[in-house]
Amino acid sequence: MGRVALVTGGSRGIGAAISVALKEAGYTVAANYAGNDEAAQAFTAETGIATYKWSVADYDACAAGVAKVQADLGPVDILVNNAGITRDAMFHKMTPQQWREVIDTNLNGLFNMTHPLWSGMRDRKFGRVINISSINGQKGQAGQANYSASKAGDLGMTKALAQEGARAGITVNAICPGYIGTEMVKAIDEKVLNERILPLIPVGRLGEPEEVARIVVFLASEGSGFITGSTISANGGQFFV
Ligand code: NDP
Repeated sequence: MGRVALVTGGSRGIGAAISVALKEAGYTVAANYAGNDEAAQAFTAETGIATYKWSVADYDACAAGVAKVQADLGPVDILVNNAGITRDAMFHKMTPQQWREVIDTNLNGLFNMTHPLWSGMRDRKFGRVINISSINGQKGQAGQANYSASKAGDLGMTKALAQEGARAGITVNAICPGYIGTEMVKAIDEKVLNERILPLIPVGRLGEPEEVARIVVFLASEGSGFITGSTISANGGQFFV
């Protein structure tokens, strides 16, 4: 049995592709999810990957969830903070609730999940924390002040924690996907997709979840120990930092 990897939001979309790619690479994988039991059950039936339900926005639930996964599968050496939500609105119409929900999941979720695992990684002198941020955390996006702030916060946390973990053999990196063809993006009106979104992407297509998953497998590997505090963009050439 390989090292144990925990993927938040790991039963759907990009997270599901990450869970599967890590399993195929030899890891024992636990996929966390928030509430879509039907999707989680179908995912487990199809892949054999165990799923665990809790919200990354709730610190106590994360601590209990991490304890349960480690009791079932062993120490978690690879954490992929992938769970994320949008609550889009132009700022003048954005409610405090829309702001808070996104920050609680996309930014506080990284603290809530990484903190309960950090001491164990330090003790074992090995860890891989991989944060799924977004192109919109790099460049900002109108209608997504909450989301852009949360994803930019993820990048700051990545760089600070990379410095703290370095001597303990823990790497902390971020991936910033552009438009990836998940259900959420494929649900966009075809005309909008073809006329307004695809022309922004030099490679002329959406990314595939597997293209993000392959970067995760690379960063998770033993051989990637000198890469830490980095942000890898996967956006088809849409934006350079
Ligand atoms: P999906 O909406 O397809 O899937 C989101 C997953 O996150 C689901 O498994 C969902 O669980 C889980 N989730 C949501 N909230 C919570 C929570 N509070 N606690 C635990 N799990 C939660 O998202 P994508 O696959 O599109 O996105 C994955 C990540 O990639 C996100 O962080 C997103 O911001 C980022 N990203 C996506 C891009 C894209 O084009 N799709 C572009 C750039 C970044 P459940 O199944 O129970 O609902």
